[in-house]
Amino acid sequence: MKALSLESYNNFSYINVPDPDFGDNDVLIRVNSCGICGSDVHGMDGSSGRRIPPIIMGHEAAGTVESVGSNVSNWKPGDRVTFDSTIYCGECKFCALQQVNLCEDRRVIGVSPGTYRQHGAFAEFVSIPARILYRLPDNVPFEEAAFVEPVSIALHGVNRIPTVKSKSAVVIGSGMIGLLVIQALKLRGASNIIAVDLDEKKLKKAKELGADDALLSNENTVSSIHEITDGGADISLEVVGMTPTLNLAIESTRKGGSVGLIGNIEARTDFPLQSVVTRELTLYGSCSSNGEYGEALNLISMGEIKVRELISSIAPLSSGAEWFSKLYNSSEDMLKVILKPDNEL
Ligand SMILES: [Zn+2]
Ligand SMILES: [Zn+2]
Repeated sequence: MKALSLESYNNFSYINVPDPDFGDNDVLIRVNSCGICGSDVHGMDGSSGRRIPPIIMGHEAAGTVESVGSNVSNWKPGDRVTFDSTIYCGECKFCALQQVNLCEDRRVIGVSPGTYRQHGAFAEFVSIPARILYRLPDNVPFEEAAFVEPVSIALHGVNRIPTVKSKSAVVIGSGMIGLLVIQALKLRGASNIIAVDLDEKKLKKAKELGADDALLSNENTVSSIHEITDGGADISLEVVGMTPTLNLAIESTRKGGSVGLIGNIEARTDFPLQSVVTRELTLYGSCSSNGEYGEALNLISMGEIKVRELISSIAPLSSGAEWFSKLYNSSEDMLKVILKPDNEL
């Protein structure tokens, strides 16, 4: 099969590789669409340490079942499917507690952090355990189904906050995930959603997708938020993961408020300890998703979470290297790029 392989850091090849092996409990999927995730772009230069070459990346995908393993009875060739990005073991204590995103033996599709290598969906075929497959509603096209993973991440981040209904909420970062978090907050009944970003175009999109206010990040952002919300937002969600944005999220939150942490571009950041302690803030880390896939698919199907407007380009897999480099260099203002195997276009 053809695949887009990260052969060494910052160096892709579009090559022929053997079709993936699939076990008795696995399903071989013919990939139709696979989105380029921010984590793939941050992985390609080695900085995240989670895409050690050679690796076929890609975990935001949808396609059709091609063949099934001998133990698989509930799927058949031709079924339209998407899949969870996380393969959980089903046996550890976190899996037993239904917290599969915290599985002790978690493997992420299209990732190779050193302890494992799990090839992903920037290829014609990908092998996936049947237990993490989801059936696509008939009206959801493959390109939109490729958003189920980021939509689930956004829903999970919002679900981590105990009460959202009628609360004011700030979202720090209005990129892909931020725009989905804004929509998820709206669905959960947040009263006043304030989007913050450095980019005017993203803020415009944030307002189109449900933000009540949109603020360009500058030295006045915290005071503007305190003014709009009369003393700080009830909730803030940080979807970037760097020192300045983390601090902005914390300082924008009212006393006793909640801070949801989704972004983690940097492994370590400065942390305003006193501000959190003396104002009794509660922090909620949010990793991946846990059980949100079904709802995410439904919301996309019903148009309650809009993903079509987040697609910047649909491009052939053979041109993947170029798109990665455009995203890496942020040379164009882009949200989601979807790659399709050339024979699916
Ligand atoms: Zn992703
Ligand atoms: Zn487990």
